[in-house]
Amino acid sequence: MQTPPSKEGAELITKAYEFAQKAHKDHKRYSEEPYFTHLVETAKTLAEFGLGPKTISAGLLHDTIEDTKTTGETIEKEFGAEILFLVQGTTKLGKLKYRGVERHTESLRKLFVATSQDIRVLIIKLADRLDNMRTLAHVPKEKQKRIASETLEIYVPLAYRLGVRKLHRELEDLAFMYTYPDEYKKIKEVLKRKGGEILKRLEKLQKSVKKTFAKEKFTAIQTECRIKGLFSLYKKLQRKDMDIEKIYDVAALRIIVPTASDCYQALGIIHGVWRPLPGRIKDYIAFPRPNGYQSLHTTIFTGDGSIFEIQIRTQQMHREAEYGIASHFLYKDGSMKHLFNQNIEWLLQLLPNSKVQEDKSASFKKKGKKPKVPKWVTQLVEEQQSTSLEPQEFIKSLKADFFEHRIFVFTPKGDVVDLPIESSPIDFAYAIHSDIGDHISGTKVNGKLVSLETKLKNGDIVQIDIKEASHPTQKWFNLAKTTLAKRHIKSALQKTAEV
Ligand code: MN
Repeated sequence: MQTPPSKEGAELITKAYEFAQKAHKDHKRYSEEPYFTHLVETAKTLAEFGLGPKTISAGLLHDTIEDTKTTGETIEKEFGAEILFLVQGTTKLGKLKYRGVERHTESLRKLFVATSQDIRVLIIKLADRLDNMRTLAHVPKEKQKRIASETLEIYVPLAYRLGVRKLHRELEDLAFMYTYPDEYKKIKEVLKRKGGEILKRLEKLQKSVKKTFAKEKFTAIQTECRIKGLFSLYKKLQRKDMDIEKIYDVAALRIIVPTASDCYQALGIIHGVWRPLPGRIKDYIAFPRPNGYQSLHTTIFTGDGSIFEIQIRTQQMHREAEYGIASHFLYKDGSMKHLFNQNIEWLLQLLPNSKVQEDKSASFKKKGKKPKVPKWVTQLVEEQQSTSLEPQEFIKSLKADFFEHRIFVFTPKGDVVDLPIESSPIDFAYAIHSDIGDHISGTKVNGKLVSLETKLKNGDIVQIDIKEASHPTQKWFNLAKTTLAKRHIKSALQKTAEV
């Protein structure tokens, strides 16, 4: 059964479309195009990601308060409190009250606070940024680099953490082009030289994989070849002496099957025919990455000198890998991307037949009904609020805690804990619970007793022993890497000092 089209949803989008067009009628972009095109592009991305009419409308209106005379009261009166909230969440702070870096970081802090209440705020911001990056060529040179590096440092990791691969990858490659133009050119050349041949070899593998599965009467599979993003290829090449032959996943074969158990069966079939490379078999179905990514990965020798990565997943896992958190908003009938074109007539024509329905999160005020905000977002906001850091410090701690390279370690029960690289067992303990952190007496990593100075590595299994009599020390503070652990230790130390 298809969801019946919602007249209200269509009317809402149309109203927002016309409102934004009028409000921005005197604005032009650097490209001389009407500013309104930016709003349509932002809304199109949101529609493509399957977000509902309210989010799409907020996308159309997202710059009205910041750039036009429109007030919050008008938006609320015309579109309601929920859309006002979404628009305000993506609006930068006033130019008068804040200046320069301060305005920038305070705006970012504000974005996070709004995001912790409604994750759609961040999705709108990312859709906004995507169009800004796509049209960056028209922006004055001196601004380009600043916007691009901000994208790379802040918005790309955010898109990654939300698991929105589609956004993350395009943003990353666009930002790469402007931040490291020489390296970008170099990578493009490498791909031009070698890419075609690598793809040809992969397509050959694809054919024999299909044949093998047909022989096994395993017909419900789809396959596709994917090429690595330019920036991620660049980062990997740096670690591999710039030798593309040393990278096994420049291109990978994706196998999409109906169910999770089909995934394991498919892996069995692959390993029955092609020899896997030891140490490269990853079960992200049983152990999803912290951003939610699920798949089975293996790397195989093709038998004629090539080595390729194969990724096996279900359709659902595939959709979540591409759209991440946004996939939880996706309509059953797929996306609404066809709703948008450059003119409203086209939009109107399509709407009566569209599958528009209300946002699943429409129960804006009702607690518990809103889409789940990832724990790291709320954690970040709590930390920032309780420490009241200076703007510069805020960005620094943001980067240290959330944007630097992460490691994923496990509790003895197999729960994943996501920490910054070089974290100590102290950080791990506090990430589990402050009561555990406050009473660490010893640590085992992978079954062996280790000191608190140990730097945890990806995949470690960490066990913390506690004693009531054990308390945080200054040394712990120095060893801790995360803001969370440091904050708890500091307050424990202050308490003892007062006694
Ligand atoms: Mn904008």
